[in-house]
Amino acid sequence: MRLKDIKELFQFELNGMYDKEEIDNFFFMIIESYLNLKRIDLALNPELSCKDNQSQLLNDALAHLKKQIPIQYILGETEFFGLPFKVNSSVLIPRPETEELVSWIINQQPKTEKQELSILDIGTGSGCIAISLAKKLPNAKVYALDISKDALKVAKQNAELNNVVIEFFEADILNSKAWSEEFKNLTLDVIVSNPPYVRELEKDMMKDNVLKNEPHLALFVEDEDPLLFYKAITQYAVNNLTNKGCLFFEINEYLGKQMIQLIKKCGFNSVELKQDIFKKDRMIKALK
Ligand code: GLN
Repeated sequence: MRLKDIKELFQFELNGMYDKEEIDNFFFMIIESYLNLKRIDLALNPELSCKDNQSQLLNDALAHLKKQIPIQYILGETEFFGLPFKVNSSVLIPRPETEELVSWIINQQPKTEKQELSILDIGTGSGCIAISLAKKLPNAKVYALDISKDALKVAKQNAELNNVVIEFFEADILNSKAWSEEFKNLTLDVIVSNPPYVRELEKDMMKDNVLKNEPHLALFVEDEDPLLFYKAITQYAVNNLTNKGCLFFEINEYLGKQMIQLIKKCGFNSVELKQDIFKKDRMIKALK
């Protein structure tokens, strides 16, 4: 079948669900990933066609798009901080606001390469925060924790894919009784986390493709105690950060004030709230 006919089929079938340009983008991302063909290849050779088994693959991808499955899950990969990451439905798709958090952390670190930093990412998911920090701060020893075995599988693959060494822990940050001795006794310069922070009451505001496809374990907290993860992590940071160590969080845009209160109450001196590019309160940095 000619690729340009399949491209037209994408436009026809997905019309009304996504805008035209987005549909073309999906089509080109899919042929690049599956057939290793670029947009320019089709432009230069408009009559290009593919074999039956290949057109079947493209049709399957189209069916997934019709079901509102995010393109990143369909392709099984995405980009974060200029690096490649494998993703599947056991991990959140890395978000641009999290890239902003990673930039902030990197810019805070001393420019001298001498100092050995130790960094822990709590609730690592795909590993996007831990791995991009390890890549950009080659002098750092990076640890990452998640409760989900399946998420850790993906994160380990991603560490390998990006050629970095991360030490992973499978543990529940809310259940200190079950932590390993090693995890209990880590001494850290930086602790970072993007824990679940979307309240059930905010579900109505979320897009269907997120709600139906991304792991709820990584997204939602109960309305009654939305800062549950932040409390546990801040307490861990009180015990495990070095003097002058730094705690970084991605936060719920509506809970900035409560977050500052919580962190100050735990004894952190300076707490800084930062907005993302959409002018939403999104990140916090606290110094011990
Ligand atoms: N920013 C994500 C979203 O809006 C939520 C991430 C999280 O809960 N940590 O979907």
